[in-house]
Amino acid sequence: MAADYDAPRVNEDEAGVDTLVLERTGLHAPTIRDDSDGGLADIDSESWDNRDAEIIVIPLQATEFVCTGCFLMVSRLQLSPDHSHGTLCNDCAA
Ligand SMILES: [Zn+2]
Repeated sequence: MAADYDAPRVNEDEAGVDTLVLERTGLHAPTIRDDSDGGLADIDSESWDNRDAEIIVIPLQATEFVCTGCFLMVSRLQLSPDHSHGTLCNDCAA
């Protein structure tokens, strides 16, 4: 027998948690999984309600630089002494 996916669900327990979260939040996000215990990560409704929260961007500090290899912002303590290939972090220069 073919499943009618448009029919309203009688029992919410039969629907997957992923489906319930997406239905309640109106999002079409990929499944968020917590690999630590193999179960679903805790998704409380407050965190989803704050998804439009303001993001504070801190500009590049004098003690930081952007690696031209991995494009990560890292501390100047990780600046490679070899500048022949640009401004690289120690990981990229290795
Ligand atoms: Zn790098």
